[in-house]
Amino acid sequence: MIIQFCPEKNDDPKVIGDLKTLVKFIEVYCEGQHDDADREGTDLKTHNLQELTGRTPRLCPDCQKLLAHALVKRTVCPMDPKPQCKHCPKHCYHPNYRQKIQEVMKYSGRKLVMRGRVDYLLHLLF
Ligand SMILES: [Zn+2]
Repeated sequence: MIIQFCPEKNDDPKVIGDLKTLVKFIEVYCEGQHDDADREGTDLKTHNLQELTGRTPRLCPDCQKLLAHALVKRTVCPMDPKPQCKHCPKHCYHPNYRQKIQEVMKYSGRKLVMRGRVDYLLHLLF
């Protein structure tokens, strides 16, 4: 069970795909920006990251908090089909996290393009 608190969403491949993308983007960002921070294996109560990504992402404490926030927000998103967040009338993120995740998307999006991982951009969230 990937999503512990909202089991019916486990069957939605769009949600699962978006969660994977969020983990990947935050991981790339943390790797590049917080290399000297104390990065540890991330363990969330809400989502089973091991099952979602097949491994345990290593993140600094700040990025772990951002990831926890982002995964919960994506999981409980009531919009269907989900618009890109910047076009959404709701803006459900806490303002601090919203600014942070936009920075993450920009930074990691550029990095993944340079690495030729354009597949990630096909389902960009932001
Ligand atoms: Zn970090």
